[in-house]
Amino acid sequence: AALGARHGMSKVRLGSSVIGGNGFTVIAGPCSVETPDQMMRTSMAVRASGAHALRGGVFKPRTSPYAFQGLGRDGLSLALEAREATGLPFVTEIMDLRDLPLLAESVDMLQVGARNMQNYSLLREIGSTRVPVLLKRGLAATIDETLMAAEYLLDGGNEQVVLCERGIRTFESSYRFTLDVAALTVLRERTHLPVIVDPSHAAGASGRVIPLALAAAACGADGIIVESHCDPSVAKCDGAQALPVEQLPDLMRRLRFAVASA
Ligand code: PEP
Ligand code: MN
Repeated sequence: AALGARHGMSKVRLGSSVIGGNGFTVIAGPCSVETPDQMMRTSMAVRASGAHALRGGVFKPRTSPYAFQGLGRDGLSLALEAREATGLPFVTEIMDLRDLPLLAESVDMLQVGARNMQNYSLLREIGSTRVPVLLKRGLAATIDETLMAAEYLLDGGNEQVVLCERGIRTFESSYRFTLDVAALTVLRERTHLPVIVDPSHAAGASGRVIPLALAAAACGADGIIVESHCDPSVAKCDGAQALPVEQLPDLMRRLRFAVASA
């Protein structure tokens, strides 16, 4: 079960490293895999910064059906080349059950996005595998609902689950979503699962990303997943919130201080 402190906190595999325990894991990369050059340049910068893993969407959950939907299988190939070149594990979102066999055998961690947090048939199917999962909190999901969604994965025997706070809908519209940092302190008491934070989708603007990442570290997160791009001005998706890769070393340096003093 996801609930309860059990005997200490769980650790979840991410390639050859783990999320949870004493470390702080940084997953970074573009919102979407766009071109060979974009994915490779961004990934090499992620690697050089000392971050631990790559992210990049290939199947994108877009609000408009006319917006860029991701490169699909072609994007997956580009991401796997970047994974090979950097030696870093790769996390990507699964939207459709039919992609599970392909993704389960090729990526290091499957992301279930905020919009699919309560897609129970998807959760059950992933729960029947042993692939590590990053489960993002829904846009309007309570902490209880988030924990119950995790339960669907654990009930199938997949205990490799990391939760992700990515901001929730509130009345405030000055930024994209309200990052619920208090949820981190609650989740610490309610579950043994590791919890990471996505500062990017809450921030909606790159200048707010580092402060929110530091807040996550201060509130006891086990890591972050952050969007970064080698040239945010041409990004096909979420460019405004993409941290230019040149700022990754600053993010990593400031996180080290925040984690040490948390
Ligand atoms: C993402 O991480 O690419 C994403 C779409 O996030 P969310 O599901 O939290 O909106
Ligand atoms: Mn995004």
